[in-house]
Amino acid sequence: MFGASAREVKNIMDRLLLFDIDGTLARTENGYLPFNEAILETFGVAGDIRTVIPDGKTDPMIVREIFSKANIELIVQAHDWERFIGNLVACYRRHVELGSTTVRALPGAAELLCALAGAGAFGLTVVTGNCEATARVKLAAAGLDSFLGRGAYGNDSAERSDLPALAKHRWEQSTAHAVLAGNCVVIGDTPDDLAAARQNKMKCLLVGTGRYPVEELEYWRPDACLADLSDTGAVLAVLNSL
Ligand SMILES: [Mg+2]
Repeated sequence: MFGASAREVKNIMDRLLLFDIDGTLARTENGYLPFNEAILETFGVAGDIRTVIPDGKTDPMIVREIFSKANIELIVQAHDWERFIGNLVACYRRHVELGSTTVRALPGAAELLCALAGAGAFGLTVVTGNCEATARVKLAAAGLDSFLGRGAYGNDSAERSDLPALAKHRWEQSTAHAVLAGNCVVIGDTPDDLAAARQNKMKCLLVGTGRYPVEELEYWRPDACLADLSDTGAVLAVLNSL
């Protein structure tokens, strides 16, 4: 990016896309295995992520909900959370290596990121409820890790609505250019992604490749809605129209 010509740099700085991971760019199968193992290793009690709806939530919120549903009263201190993140990423790495947990790019995700990175009209970054280390494992496993800026994660804040501004700030710092919130587009698969975009005065494209079908997502009136990201030309046309 720093080697680009002045004209390219100006174009790159115009707009920023903030991609969610799960249900938007990639799908994880058997992600409950490393998550539940990390809970047991860290807190010494069995918790099951399959008892909650994790979509759109940050990892700290998910852990709290699991304990709440199981009527387990645990006060999670900052050092517990650090240990949980360490255990989670180790468990994820192990299960992905073994093949017991798989992470695959959703149809069109890699092609879209490749086209966007090549065109240079948009900056590309991440906003996800995953903690950063786990997000990196997932993106690498899905073959998507080379396209995206640092972004913001569940370990930065338990509140998803805090994350888009932080991802924008980090992107601005890494490129030394400012971008208007109104020129940012959050791309996600849940009403929580939309709410986070709205709270940050950003636009939002929702895709129906997660828990919610596109008809349900349209009810929430995002700026745009697509069934999936499979048609790169169609996605680019939508993004250029926002
Ligand atoms: Mg998602």
